[in-house]
Parts: sequence; C-alpha cells; structure tokens
Amino acid sequence: MAVERTLSIIKPDAVGNNVIGQIYTRFEAAGLKVVAARMAHLTEKEAGGFYEVHRARPFFKDLVGFMISGPVMIQVLEGENAVAKHRDIMGATDPKKAAPGTIRADFAASIDENAVHGSDSAENAAVEISYFFRATELCPRTR
Ligand code: UDP
Repeated sequence: MAVERTLSIIKPDAVGNNVIGQIYTRFEAAGLKVVAARMAHLTEKEAGGFYEVHRARPFFKDLVGFMISGPVMIQVLEGENAVAKHRDIMGATDPKKAAPGTIRADFAASIDENAVHGSDSAENAAVEISYFFRATELCPRTR
C-alpha cells in the first residue's frame, strides 16, 4: 500500500474544547504521523479560499464563520493509505451518523461544528497541503 499524505484540521470547536492532544492520540494509534503542524486563527479570506468548492452551498457562510470563530490546528499526516485511514477515524460528516469510536462521534456536536477536516482524495490532499504549507515545511519521518 502506498505511503500518502493528507491534510487534517482540528476545527475551532475541538480546539476550544481543549482536545487537540486526544485527537493527536487517535492519529498516532492509527499509524498516522504528523509531518507538519501549525496553529492558526484563519482570516475570512483564508477560510473561504480553503472551502472554495462549497462557495455556492447554503451552509458556506456559516461554515466560514465557524472556521474563523477561533484558532484551528492544521497538520499534515503521513502513513500508508493515509487519506482513507484518516477519513475512517474521523467518521461521517454528521456526528449523529458517525460510527462509535470515531473522532466526530466522540468530539463533535453537530454537522456544522464537527471537530475535524480531512482531505477526501490524494489529489485534493496535495492541493490542500500546499494551501497551508510550503514544501520545505514538511518533515519526512525517516526514523
Ligand atoms: N457542512 C455543514 N453543513 C452541511 C454539510 C457540510 O456545515 O450540511 C460543513 C461541515 O463542517 C463539513 C464541511 O461543511 O465538514 C465540508 O463538507 P463535506 O461534505 O466536504 O464534509 P467532510 O468532507 O468535512 O466530511
């Protein structure tokens, strides 16, 4: 199986609930390694640009408002099959539908405030990683 990278964001609700470490523990338990990380309080322009594909959706304005409501923790995760593995441990977009034991089932309150973001394909992961990180900021885990 191929080693991949994916973009992960711990959203303002989860950062506000002080569960960054608990969510990182889930990444590590799944064999995903952090190869870059940065905390940021996104601007409206940054959050809107990141969610550009959703601009026409009815929830776009609220989504951007939520994403700029507090700091986020942004990381690049590396591992075998990282994109799908990360989506699996995140759980469904709506936490009410997320499987027990997933991050969203355990840490999210609603579909609007659902704790985490994860790239949904290797192609989108490459675009999303480059949206937040320069290539030189990624630290391959060689040991
Ligand atoms: N979202 C929302 N209301 C909806 C659908 C989506 O607020 O009815 C938000 C939610 O935060 C979600 C994000 O928009 O995580 C992106 O939606 P997507 O369908 O890409 O879900 P994801 O890939 O995050 O599971």
